[in-house]
This record gives sequence, structure tokens and C-alpha cells, in this order.
Amino acid sequence: MTKVNVLSGSRTIGGTFIRIDDGEKVIVFDQGVRFDIFRRYYTDWVTPLGVMELRKLGILPKEEWYEDVQDIYITHLHLDHLGALSNIPKPILVHIPGGSVYEEIARKRWERSPSWLNIIPESYYIETQDVQPLNEDKNNVLALPVSHSAFPAMAYLYFGKDKNVLYTGDMRVNGYLDKKSFNKLRGGPSLLEYIANQRDIRIDVLLIEGTNFGSDRMPISPKDSLEIMKRIGTHHEHVIVTTHYLDVEFLLATIKLAQDLNRECFVLSEPVAKILHTIGVNSKIKVVEDFAVTPAFPSITLQEAFEEPSMLIASYYEIVDLCRKISKTEIGEKAIASIITEPEPSTEEMVEYEVVNRWLLRTGIQPYRLRVSGHYYPFEIDKILKTIKPKSAIPVHTERPELMKTFLQKAL
Ligand SMILES: [Zn+2]
Ligand SMILES: [Zn+2]
Repeated sequence: MTKVNVLSGSRTIGGTFIRIDDGEKVIVFDQGVRFDIFRRYYTDWVTPLGVMELRKLGILPKEEWYEDVQDIYITHLHLDHLGALSNIPKPILVHIPGGSVYEEIARKRWERSPSWLNIIPESYYIETQDVQPLNEDKNNVLALPVSHSAFPAMAYLYFGKDKNVLYTGDMRVNGYLDKKSFNKLRGGPSLLEYIANQRDIRIDVLLIEGTNFGSDRMPISPKDSLEIMKRIGTHHEHVIVTTHYLDVEFLLATIKLAQDLNRECFVLSEPVAKILHTIGVNSKIKVVEDFAVTPAFPSITLQEAFEEPSMLIASYYEIVDLCRKISKTEIGEKAIASIITEPEPSTEEMVEYEVVNRWLLRTGIQPYRLRVSGHYYPFEIDKILKTIKPKSAIPVHTERPELMKTFLQKAL
């Protein structure tokens, strides 16, 4: 019997832990941090003592949940899914999409972190493995690329003894890239395109995320946001765009937008420069030397970045530093706008927007805040279900499972 158990994350956004018991075989999908509980116990000055305390509070998965587990499949590198790898109590193979992104960029950042984030990397007895999309593995698990605000995100399809189980992870229906660019970046079609073309695949159980159910967020699509950015871009000589370094689709779309607007594109962030290099982007990017040192790209000074109309890409970490370093002589009388994108999950990075805004205003920069979800919007569930045609569906990664169930019932 193929048994599916959502041990955490059925009524909360993130902290998902899905255990599948299928005879001798036991696998887990995601093992995330429960930020909803985290926020109740910790502040800037009350910080976690370590893995044991986090486990006791129910923020990290319990030890017994890992019993008999052979493999863990992570959908993407957001911490509400990746979780603290050092919490895994025994040798288990952990499959991580974008192995090099994790090894070369994310893990190094966490290891060096002076905060609790240094518990994220795995203990010495844990082996990790990169995930190859569109390849059924020894456990009969097939990874399928999905669009999301963390690169590279996967959905997993498990072909069980008596049930096929599909877990979406976090996903959106429409991303920043067109089909051709997405398939090129990800090495194959997306989940929905793949399933639409494989009519013989039967999905018995669909574990589907529902982040935006119950949210009054305006359903701005990535395409809408690019139109808005273009409008802002045409009216300002310089636009500073902030992004999370894992949001590769957005990064690539921003670089393309700069080209369409005939502007040079400068990177003011070391992790952003690194990830662009890792995925093989070598179009006309330059890095600003005060902020990024990646030798793969030519560098310029901060002053040079403001000589001709330009698009500047920074992360949240650098935007305040940029305001501090910028002097009136560099920006003179120029019209500068900043587009602050909202990361997801917002709890992961805890950015203080008001603080960032004050620094921008002091420097004479007009801020615009852009909220585009990394998740599909509720009205898009029809399209997902019509393509996947599951026999049954279980909501996860949502604060509104009941609301979601009524939509699922109508569509199934
Ligand atoms: Zn999530
Ligand atoms: Zn996510």
C-alpha cells in the first residue's frame, strides 16, 4: 500500500514535510522550517539556541519522522522547504535541485552566517545529490521543472506500487520566461507542459500548494510586472532593481528588459553575479567593483554606472549600502527610480521595507514596490487541474485548506 502522510504544512504556508511509505520504501518530500511558529518565539534579539530547541518547538521536523527514510527530495532552496539539513538525524540521501547553486553559493553563505542560519548546511554523515529533471530515478521518482521565485524549483512525481503521487512544491502557472527560454534554462518542459503531452500518466493523488488562497493580493502576473517596469524604465535615467539572488527567472527577464530599453545592465551584488555565472549567462553584464568581485564579468566603478542611462541590479543586502556610498556628485540631477521586489516567503529574509525606503528617499531615489507572487493565483487552479486530471487532491502550503477544498471539489 502506498501511504501518503502530510506530517507538517497542511495548514500553514511552508514547513512542508510529506512522508510516503510504500512497503519497504520510505521517501520524504521537503522538510522545511515552520516560520509561522518561528515568528512566535524569536525576534531580532531572541534567537534560536540550536537544532534541538527548534525541534522541541515544532519549528523543525521531529526525529521520529525520519525513521526508515532512505531518500529526501527537496523541491527548491527556500528554507520553508529545504529546512535545516543538520536536523536530519541519520545517513539519508538528500536530493537537492541545482546542486551547484546550493554548493557554490547558498551553502557557503549559510555556513559563514553569524546567525542561526549556520545550521542549514548538512552534517558530515549526510550525502547530497543534484536532481536531474525528467529522469525517473531508482526510487521511481521523476523530477519535473516548475516556475517559482527560487531557481531551480521542481515538482516530484512518484510512481508508487498502487498509487501515483504528484507533489507540486511551490509553483506558478505563468513565469517570467517564455516557453522556449524556460525549457532552455531548465533542460526540458515544465510540469504542466510535460503532463499535457503524456496522456497515459495517471495521477491518483495530487499534493498541491495553495499559498495565494485567501490572500487579497492583486494577481499581477510576471508579464504585467515587466510592462510596469518598462514604463518606470522609460521615465527614469537609472533604475535600481532589487532581487533575491535565487530569483533567476526575474533576473534574466530584467536583463532582457534592459536590452530592450537600450541600457547597460550593471550588477551590484556578489551572489547575483555568481548565480549568473553559474547558469552560464555571459551577455553584456558588468559588475560594480565596490559590490561584486566575480572575475567572470568586466567591472566598472560606481561613478561609471551612472554616466549613461542604466539598469542596476542589487539585492536587499546591498541597496542600503548603495545609498550610503552614492554621493550627490555621482547622481547629480538625474532621475533615479528603485524597484523593490518583494521576496517570498517574505519571512525568509525579513526585510524591513520601511527602513529601505527611508534610505532611498534620503538619497533622492523614488521607490516603487513590486509585489509579484512566485505562486499561481487561485483563479489559475482550473488550468492546473484540467491538465493534471488527478483522481484526488490534497491542499498543502496554505493557510486556507477549506477554501481551497471547495475550489478543488468544483474543478475535479
Ligand atoms: Zn514555500
Ligand atoms: Zn518557495
